[in-house]
Amino acid sequence: MVGARVLVPFSGQKLMGVVVRVHDDAPADDFEIKPVQQVLDDTAILPAELMKLAEWIASYYVAPLGEVLRGMLPLAAEVKRHFFYRIAEAGRKVLYEGAAKGSSRRSKLTAEEQNREYAVLNYLEGGEQAKMSALRSATGANKGLLEGMVRKKWLVREAVAEERDARRLEKIAVLAHGAGSREEGVGSREPLPGVGGRLPRLNENQLAVMAELAAVGGRMRVSDLRIALTRAGVPGSTLGTLVKRGLVGIEEAAEEFHLGGVSALGKKHAHEHALNEAQMEALGTIAAAMDKGGFRPHLLYGITGSGKTTVYFAAMRRALDAGKSALLLVPEIGLTPAMAAQMYAAFAGEVALLHSQLTPDERAEQWHRIRRGEARIVVGTRSAVFAPMVDLGLIIVDEEHDSSYKQEETPRYHGRDVAVMRAKLNEAVVVLGSATPSLESWANADKGRYARVELRERVMERPLPAVELVDMRAEFRETGQEHIFSRKLIEETQLTLDRSEQVILLLNRRGYSTVVMCRSCGEKIECENCAISMTYHKKVSENDAIAQPGQRLECHYCGFRRAVPKVCPKCESEHLYFLGAGSQQGEERLQELFPAARIGRMDRDTVRGRSDMERLLARLHGGEINLLVGTQMIAKGHDIHGVTLVGVVGADFQLGLPDFRAAERVFQLLTQVSGRAGRGDLPGKVLVQTYHPDHYAIQFAATHDYPGFVAKEMNYRRWMHYPPFAVLANVVIQSEKLEEATAWAGTLGRRFQQARLDKVRVLGPAAAPIVRLKRIYRFHFVLKAERRQALGATLRAMLAYAETQGIARRNLVVDVDAVHLM
Ligand code: ADP
Ligand code: ZN
Ligand code: ZN
Repeated sequence: MVGARVLVPFSGQKLMGVVVRVHDDAPADDFEIKPVQQVLDDTAILPAELMKLAEWIASYYVAPLGEVLRGMLPLAAEVKRHFFYRIAEAGRKVLYEGAAKGSSRRSKLTAEEQNREYAVLNYLEGGEQAKMSALRSATGANKGLLEGMVRKKWLVREAVAEERDARRLEKIAVLAHGAGSREEGVGSREPLPGVGGRLPRLNENQLAVMAELAAVGGRMRVSDLRIALTRAGVPGSTLGTLVKRGLVGIEEAAEEFHLGGVSALGKKHAHEHALNEAQMEALGTIAAAMDKGGFRPHLLYGITGSGKTTVYFAAMRRALDAGKSALLLVPEIGLTPAMAAQMYAAFAGEVALLHSQLTPDERAEQWHRIRRGEARIVVGTRSAVFAPMVDLGLIIVDEEHDSSYKQEETPRYHGRDVAVMRAKLNEAVVVLGSATPSLESWANADKGRYARVELRERVMERPLPAVELVDMRAEFRETGQEHIFSRKLIEETQLTLDRSEQVILLLNRRGYSTVVMCRSCGEKIECENCAISMTYHKKVSENDAIAQPGQRLECHYCGFRRAVPKVCPKCESEHLYFLGAGSQQGEERLQELFPAARIGRMDRDTVRGRSDMERLLARLHGGEINLLVGTQMIAKGHDIHGVTLVGVVGADFQLGLPDFRAAERVFQLLTQVSGRAGRGDLPGKVLVQTYHPDHYAIQFAATHDYPGFVAKEMNYRRWMHYPPFAVLANVVIQSEKLEEATAWAGTLGRRFQQARLDKVRVLGPAAAPIVRLKRIYRFHFVLKAERRQALGATLRAMLAYAETQGIARRNLVVDVDAVHLM
């Protein structure tokens, strides 16, 4: 059955595969036919339209179909691999000879380890294969020892996949009926009313447990409850006592994905608003398309604060009412617990969440709920585009311009574009939403391929913030010094804090200093593995909420760390200096400037997981933080009504990056971060510090003129033959050996020349902008074509040729519609 999983033999292992076609065509002579060993599903686990989608992705992105299918099946957790060992001929020989000669002195192993090896060989001598676990307990051999024996060809290892149930049970603590349901009983020292009236007084710890449960509606995972209690210093035995007294019950339930401690953060949920006129109109267009049925793509261009989310929710509600399901894709950082809480508030048990931090078991469970049609509203990040929706009627891609939709490993698909294709295969409506749509999507709307829907005003007639540019060249001339923060920004920040309003400052690089340089020889300290400057991170104060490593230099590409050298590694001069301020330095400087401010920092160092982010946002919402500094994370979608001033510090360094999308990215970032100001009752203001005040990306962002920016940028792209006026692929040739990488780049370069391509333009070979990354040397070509077909054909021909030249597939990265050319 097409779309079902099977186990097949493959060079001594059993591997999982997916049935792509059932046929009785004879294969080419040089293929051996092998039987399928086990069929794992009796129905298609991948429905027909997902199989079609997989084929489309494999062809469009020139990626192996197997890798595409692997990415679509989140069910790895259901198939567990077991290792079996069998004795091999060489092993038998060793066993018999060794028995005669005693242990070998040439072996690197200890006598004890050699004895274990003999024990293993003895155990297996009868010829039966044995499970690794059995061997280990019978002989005391560990995995390393067994693997060593496999390498010596004494043993043969076989991997066998076995299906298991992904469902797990978990314990849930449930407040007994009546207990703690009255607020005055919990948290006070009064005895609880009810529960048979025989209730003894509860001590403080017991009350704390009851209060915790009552606060979340009376049900909580025991594991979560234990964490909360430990944090509050309540001993673990307290829960047991309450269970004995019948005040708390323990139930078992199938594990589901829960969100611990989601609070509503005191704001109105998006689905509770009555839609304004513009929102009604947008919804009307989308709903009409859904009523009509069939594939219909829309681009929802709505400025920041125009209430796009409200429209998404209303459209999803329409889909549900029509008996359809709806999928909402959000950027990596967009799926905050606050967003999830809104989803649950609006759609309750219909919701399934899919994101990168789920465990394999959690992911599998969500997947099954969706496949069974139990969850008809799905929210997730990139790979959720493969959710096995039943009766899919609507796909929404929020912040469609966001680069986290592009997968940066094979298959290098773009979640947004796959979403559009998926909608086409499902005959569904798709909505791409953004305040700063990508040029690709805008061009598609211009061509009439996408219907354009607009929200041109903020809700409640709130104005967009006034944007003022601070020319940092003039600032330097006037002050004679290089400061992170301009006088203007300091003054405005002080005024805003004095009015008890909040400030967000964007400082788009993390760490303390972004470059460490030697004054004597000019050398920058680079990573050992990458051609990248290392970032200096200062030691963090003890009371920091998150344990962070101490003072160090760190590579932000591969994570390599080293101690901060006292002298230049090249010339041993002591005159090292630290350049380029990161968010950590920004925070330190702000503490000096505004000692009374309550400062928070949001970057990859302070936000490791979704809960860190949520905690910071909650403190910002609650006013506990009134000055937030951070990297571009702070620009993404947050809706904090108290923020009236946004400052942008050094966002324009990106204009200098060797990437044709540099201006677009700067424009997007400035627009998005500006959009954080003035979302409440008070109007907002934005100060942008820049060294390029005349650059069009900055000028148009300052006047909130997206159409103006796009018109200008489109001219440049047309002139330079870049997307959306051409299709583009980046081809990277990589090897740990520099000679190999250069030789292969030359080989392919000559081939492209000989081929005299007239429909495809080839730029390169050239050293990639990051020529060495994680110890790998990188050269690249950029291929541009007017037609996608010509590009695909050239890439396929190149891969075929590379194979004849002994260039392995893993040494070539083919990135169709590349988002980053680095
Ligand atoms: P966007 O995503 O377009 O930037 P949001 O969807 O986050 O905007 O909405 C911005 C703010 O406006 C939110 O606080 C939201 O609750 C509020 N809002 C949305 N629609 C309405 C409405 N019709 N009336 C009043 N407030 C609204
Ligand atoms: Zn030096
Ligand atoms: Zn590195």
